[in-house]
Amino acid sequence: MYGHLRTDRLPEGYPQFFERGEGCHLWDVNGKRYVDFMCSWGPIVVGHGNPVVAEAVARQMAAGDCLNGPSERLVELAERLVGLIPHADWALFGKNGTDATTTCVTLARAASGKRKILVAEGAYHGAIPWCTPNQYGVTPEDRAHMLTFRFNDTGSLESAVQRAGDDLAGIVVSAFKHDFGKDQEMPDAAFARRARELCDANDAALIVDDVRAGFRLTMRGSWDLVGVQPDLSAWSKAIANGHALAAVTGNDRYREAASKLYVTGSFWCSAVSMAAALATLDVLESVDGPAHMRAMGQRLRDGIAAQSAEFGIGVRQSGPPQMPTVLFDDDPDCEKGNFFTLEALKHGAYLHPRHNMFLSTAHTEADIDFALNATREAFKALAAR
Ligand code: PMP
Repeated sequence: MYGHLRTDRLPEGYPQFFERGEGCHLWDVNGKRYVDFMCSWGPIVVGHGNPVVAEAVARQMAAGDCLNGPSERLVELAERLVGLIPHADWALFGKNGTDATTTCVTLARAASGKRKILVAEGAYHGAIPWCTPNQYGVTPEDRAHMLTFRFNDTGSLESAVQRAGDDLAGIVVSAFKHDFGKDQEMPDAAFARRARELCDANDAALIVDDVRAGFRLTMRGSWDLVGVQPDLSAWSKAIANGHALAAVTGNDRYREAASKLYVTGSFWCSAVSMAAALATLDVLESVDGPAHMRAMGQRLRDGIAAQSAEFGIGVRQSGPPQMPTVLFDDDPDCEKGNFFTLEALKHGAYLHPRHNMFLSTAHTEADIDFALNATREAFKALAAR
């Protein structure tokens, strides 16, 4: 196994292979059922096997998927995104989040004729040489025009902009700080506004990587919550409830560059994932998905906080309730976190000891309460140790 789905960073005992999923439940190949708090690391946003999405997929599959060009679903989806997302005047589509973030970076350079791209230290934007966190096989030339700053640190962003001089093409920011193994941080509004000003002053693109958070916090783009609109956004994960799709949205300043860019892939225009996206957005809008996920995430957070107090074991819960991270105090090697999540797993809750987790619209109060029973058992075992 390779990449983020490989279980070697999880405690021994986590299953590597799965048989099926339904709603917020997942069955491993040994038939054990879990309430799922990873949602396939983000893509599953309206529940495994959601019937509305399944119906749209079956209909499109019968009509055709990979044709000599896109179906009308592409136009419908582009119009839908432009209608939903305030900064968006156009959209283009790919398959994975890395396609979308890389296209944003290329567009920023194409439109400005400049080279330097600023990224935050520790942020994840994909798995190819310009951004992969594991530098195995990466040459210094692959990163020659990348500069870093600290997320939410305006001084460090200003100094990186200064280092880029007159060669600044774009600034890439995550929706919020969701680095692996760290407490999460929401974007500071003053930092976000300064990033916007610096891009405007330097004719550079402000790029929000909404691949992980998009459609969970809000339907409008995550930085809308702090009142800042990017020039370009990268989307993927939750857009089509597990079907392979990514999108870039942009404003009119980048329309011409987007129309000239040569970006494509054999499966980028396939119609089924776009039909799945339209159905996913329908469900998210009809049930106010972000609000439901927030409420369920808050119920989980409140329950864990009460158990932490009851057992006298300190935890830090960070990030938006829809994408919670739970880390233990005085636990530099995540030893307590590993013990705790493995115990919760035994009682049927699939949590992650270090990465942010994900809620979906399929999680109900009863599912959260079931999971809280598992975490209670895990706190009890940790206290008894
Ligand atoms: N950006 C962010 C913020 C992500 O979380 C991810 C995936 N974890 C990516 C980009 C890359 O997406 P993908 O794995 O679909 O290429």
